[in-house]
Amino acid sequence: MRILVIEDDTLLGDAIQAGLKQSGYAVDWMKDGVSAEQALATEPYAAVVLDLGLPRLSGLEVLRRLRRRNAPLPVLILTAMDTVDDRIKGLDAGADDYLIKPFDMGELAARLRALIRRASGKSEPFLEIAGVRLDPAAHRVLYRDRPVELSAKEFALLHALMLNAGKVLSRAQLEEQLYAWGDEIESNAVEVHIHHLRRKLFPELIETIRGVGYLMPRDKGN
Ligand code: CA
Repeated sequence: MRILVIEDDTLLGDAIQAGLKQSGYAVDWMKDGVSAEQALATEPYAAVVLDLGLPRLSGLEVLRRLRRRNAPLPVLILTAMDTVDDRIKGLDAGADDYLIKPFDMGELAARLRALIRRASGKSEPFLEIAGVRLDPAAHRVLYRDRPVELSAKEFALLHALMLNAGKVLSRAQLEEQLYAWGDEIESNAVEVHIHHLRRKLFPELIETIRGVGYLMPRDKGN
């Protein structure tokens, strides 16, 4: 899962980026509205954390333009304590949720999980396919009720495949979801993580569609 953080306050942006990385997200951080717009136009984010008071282009305008393009991306806005008006404008402009500064990092992560879950059309807090149960909040995977140890990237990859079960994802699409700008990507990183997932879970869980990408079949009857 890749998140875009748009925040011009260096200390706060730094803390948000670090906190979300710790929760297993790949995080891009933009410090003004114009760079944010460019990032939003090109990168596949799972959600956006948006400060409203931004240089060059306001957060509200970034949000309006995003919604004008009909982008269904979940957006959580950050607002100051005494700005009820901003909050209302933000929600009216298409924000999905808000937090008032200062906020708790754990709460931000929990709200993002809920937004991403809802955006994928799933109401349960965990995903389950073919005996594999993934709990995004606890960052835990069980296979046939037994815990499975996964690295942060393996977990993120499995999460992306499960959210998109029944759809083929190309290697490039998976890389874009797993890595932020500036992250170093080994050329065969996705293949290696898929190999580990198949070994730790079971081989048929993830299908290779030759020349196209990878697919996690949906459970039958789902
Ligand atoms: Ca600001």
